[in-house]
Amino acid sequence: MLNGKTALVTGSTSGIGLAVARAFAKDGAHVVINGFGEPDAIERERAAIEKDFGVKALYSGADMSKGEEIAAMIAEMGAAMGGIDILVNNAGIQFVSPIEDFPVEKWDQVIAINLSAAFHATRAAVPGMKAKKWGRIINTASAHALVASPFKAAYVAAKHGIAGLTKTVALEVAAHGITANAICPGYVWTPLVEKQIPDTMKARGMTREQVINDILLAVQPTKKFVTVEEIAGLALYLASDLAASINGAILSIDGGWTAA
Ligand code: NAD
Repeated sequence: MLNGKTALVTGSTSGIGLAVARAFAKDGAHVVINGFGEPDAIERERAAIEKDFGVKALYSGADMSKGEEIAAMIAEMGAAMGGIDILVNNAGIQFVSPIEDFPVEKWDQVIAINLSAAFHATRAAVPGMKAKKWGRIINTASAHALVASPFKAAYVAAKHGIAGLTKTVALEVAAHGITANAICPGYVWTPLVEKQIPDTMKARGMTREQVINDILLAVQPTKKFVTVEEIAGLALYLASDLAASINGAILSIDGGWTAA
């Protein structure tokens, strides 16, 4: 389906982004991966994509909290790959704290990486998509784009913002063969979730098991974590021509969490 297309997936050295990049590559897309991590491990992932799927895979170390680096990444990788056809705005971090103690620099960082980065990348990628009269913008939002949880002020604000950005961009690009949609996963067992457990234990006075069962899985009627493969499957569908009429959609994949 995606033969000959190029996809840039931000925050794809780990978790959901890596699964999306690999699913796109398996389907024939050339990919650009991005994110932080240990250089040798990143190079192993990049090389594995090329070896496993016979596509071109490049890596950009652009810091998604910095607008100039994001614009430069889109320009450089677009030039190297013949344009960016599919942009997945996925990089994200979490920070858990009561609002009165929420560190100002953590607020700024979460808003920069989880919200402003998608603005900078979309702004830079849309002209190339318009020129090709085809494009896909897929934003990894969250169930927290639709509902809140306590102690996650910056994350919930950023994800609600991503929903608004997605809908606005969708209206602007609709007549150009481009779609913009948001995927809203419930809890997925990735480093992002694992890292927030100690702070949630502290904020709520709970044990690790209580956080997992009474906070995380309690909201998902399936009582299961969503898997990265399930999210990659939805992203792959949204990137395909079959999804040409899905535009401006905020799509839940949360085991029923936000149906309640
Ligand atoms: P993860 O920690 O496994 O991956 C996050 C990725 O973002 C990594 O590749 C990391 O290196 C990258 N990253 C972080 N800061 C960056 C920066 N400044 N510049 C470039 N890259 C940076 O987490 P994940 O769970 O796979 O999260 C991916 C996305 O999915 C995030 O937007 C997250 O909010 C969203 N999400 C996750 C869950 C969940 O339960 N895990 C649920 C809903 C939404």
